[in-house]
Amino acid sequence: MSETAADRLSEIWARIAAAEKEARRTPGSVELVAVSKTFEAEDIRPVIEAGQNVFGENRVQEAQKKWPGLKADYPDVELHLIGPLQSNKAKDAVELFDAIHSIDREKIARAVKDEMEKQDKRLRLFIQVNTGEEPQKAGVMPGEVDDFVKFCRNDLGLSVEGLMAIPPFEEAPGPHFALLQKMADRNGLLGLSMGMSGDFETAISFGATHVRVGSAIFGARDYSG
Ligand SMILES: *Cc1c(COP(=O)(O)O)cnc(C)c1O
Repeated sequence: MSETAADRLSEIWARIAAAEKEARRTPGSVELVAVSKTFEAEDIRPVIEAGQNVFGENRVQEAQKKWPGLKADYPDVELHLIGPLQSNKAKDAVELFDAIHSIDREKIARAVKDEMEKQDKRLRLFIQVNTGEEPQKAGVMPGEVDDFVKFCRNDLGLSVEGLMAIPPFEEAPGPHFALLQKMADRNGLLGLSMGMSGDFETAISFGATHVRVGSAIFGARDYSG
């Protein structure tokens, strides 16, 4: 590939802007989370230099290897955790990340709340919903979302920004995005973290406020390392 990650980043920005326009959304209302999982600090640096300042990682331990250094060099960069969180990693996650998209059970919500209080740090929080009710996938079941939002708000006093979902790989994503939008609406939640490299424009047409795009910027991931 002769194109650089910075070139591909500009294309994604342009496609997001076009999709916002097409959907009659306010220009700039969709935030791009550049998903840098499996890529090294040296791959990420040029993307930051090109002007991208929100990044996503799906593993706390992997992020701990590359992001403290990057954050020291680029203090304005925001880091989002988009993958499953174990409660024994809540302390590390709250220290390193600015947002968590994968709150999906009481134990995690409680652990994150306790850590935010201890560290006197407030993260932006999204509840992950398993819209396809897939047994192997993380997320609150659609029928439990309203109660879980209430639990986070009323029992824990957490401020929840929105909902997040990863539609089933083999299905059309539109109905899943529509379902997530409906659940967010009826719970008064403004944030919708949905849409990846293959479907972010569709997600924007259904109201996505955060799209999580990895391979379309960084290239194909190599899991062999
Ligand atoms: C890896 C990942 C993405 C990005 O996927 P691409 O298809 O590479 O854009 C988005 N969201 C989550 C939760 C991921 O783990």
